[in-house]
Amino acid sequence: MSARTAEVVVCGAGIAGVAAAYHLAARHGVRDVVLVDERPPLSLTSDKSAECYRNWWPGPDEAMVAAMNRSIDLLEELARETDNVFRMNRRGYLFATADPARVPDYLRRAEEGARLGSGPVRIHAGAASDYRPAPADGFEGEPAGVDVITDAALIRRHFPWLAADTVALLHARRCGWFSGQQLGMCMLERARDKGVRLVEGRVEAVETTGGRVSAVRIAAREGPLTIATPRFVDAAGPFVKDVARLLGVELPVFCERHAKVALNDALGAMPRSAPMTIWTDPVRLPWSDEERAELALAPEHRRLLDEFPAGVHGRPEGAGDSPVVLLVWTYDVEPVEPTFPVSFDPAYAEIALRGMSRMVPAFERYLARLPRCFVDGGYYTKTRENRFLAGPLPVEGAYVIGALSGYGLMSSNVAADLLAAHVTGAPLPPWASAFRLERYEDPGYQALLERWGDSGQL
Ligand SMILES: Cc1cc2nc3c(=O)[nH]c(=O)nc-3n(C[C@H](O)[C@H](O)[C@H](O)COP(=O)(O)OP(=O)(O)OC[C@H]3O[C@@H](n4cnc5c(N)ncnc54)[C@H](O)[C@@H]3O)c2cc1C
Repeated sequence: MSARTAEVVVCGAGIAGVAAAYHLAARHGVRDVVLVDERPPLSLTSDKSAECYRNWWPGPDEAMVAAMNRSIDLLEELARETDNVFRMNRRGYLFATADPARVPDYLRRAEEGARLGSGPVRIHAGAASDYRPAPADGFEGEPAGVDVITDAALIRRHFPWLAADTVALLHARRCGWFSGQQLGMCMLERARDKGVRLVEGRVEAVETTGGRVSAVRIAAREGPLTIATPRFVDAAGPFVKDVARLLGVELPVFCERHAKVALNDALGAMPRSAPMTIWTDPVRLPWSDEERAELALAPEHRRLLDEFPAGVHGRPEGAGDSPVVLLVWTYDVEPVEPTFPVSFDPAYAEIALRGMSRMVPAFERYLARLPRCFVDGGYYTKTRENRFLAGPLPVEGAYVIGALSGYGLMSSNVAADLLAAHVTGAPLPPWASAFRLERYEDPGYQALLERWGDSGQL
């Protein structure tokens, strides 16, 4: 090995590239892996996440649930090996509704989840039911599957902080959150222990010889650098499409801009032990009559009187005395070009807080005088059906790990595991083809895309 050769060059040290380097070097024994990034590792999108994970995904087939179960297996394995350095919990995702018409849908989704592999269904329709809430910390010994609670007394007993008119809950159990930064640093350290080199610079060109990858040209901090290599991995996050173009490959991906709000919940509106909690009904933001009249007169604010889509969600963040809660609401799904620094709707924090107060009424106490809110975020880089890409590109020696959308921390390990298996020729699981770029060449798959349904985005 010399500084100017590598077995594999990975472009991008976000969670995708770091996981790829870790799986290649530490789990698949590939030597001479070089990780190139023009920014510090994990600093573009991967440190903006809400850091949650779930094996709770819709169909149309089992691939997404199978992939997430594999990713969570790998995360749990790493957590066990490291004394849970990235503080993985298993609090679950708690979906809530006040609409009685949605209850049959919860039951149908629960059955569908069981069929797809998320785990068994437990229905709790009476106050004497044996529903067991999740512990705040740790992930061992907890059930998978879902609990569907339709008994009002049981809902009140376990979740008295939810809106009083909540009629049903769906508690998906192989879900929770962890520290994404700790996870990333843990994988990066392990990768570096196995010889992975980090190069600070921008990948500017990928050279091919006889139709296969032969070298990568980098504008490195120390000056131009060319690394001869037979393999190149595009892990460029929101720039995955631009980097693929260096090889003449067009990727079917686009970006949506999304943000999270962090605020100090000094009034304790949300219990510190709460699960990730999601309101599945559309919401009209609460305004006083006076505010409503004012907004109606201002064309640029009138949208605030419209109905917002379902899906406002939030969770407590941080251990010990932390008062922080995180809120996310992906109501704006307009595709955009990724540009940095990212700017967000100045009204986003207020919209998210008002929306959240529909589900957790104690948040209303903040509405008269908004608390200081910290808003950050980035781009969900997505394929049309919201399934990631992990596998070969149509240039020999080139691969992609990307389009990790709003679930890149939770899926990083399975995506990297698949990528490393493609690179090394290791056996692939039967559902690996669901994440290859090649899937779009299949007319059957194209037809399926037309009637896809729920993409699983929250
Ligand atoms: C608000 C929000 C909430 C989220 N919540 C969750 C969540 O709860 N759970 C979850 O699992 N996921 C969540 N996500 C999604 C997750 O953060 C992303 O899927 C993930 O971070 C994407 O990782 P990445 O490595 O693909 O991209 P990035 O982290 O953006 O990394 C890409 C890297 O490539 C580098 N790069 C690009 N082009 C070049 C080049 N030419 N040369 C050198 N380097 C280059 C960039 O500098 C960058 O460092 C959330 C995202 C957002 C925005």
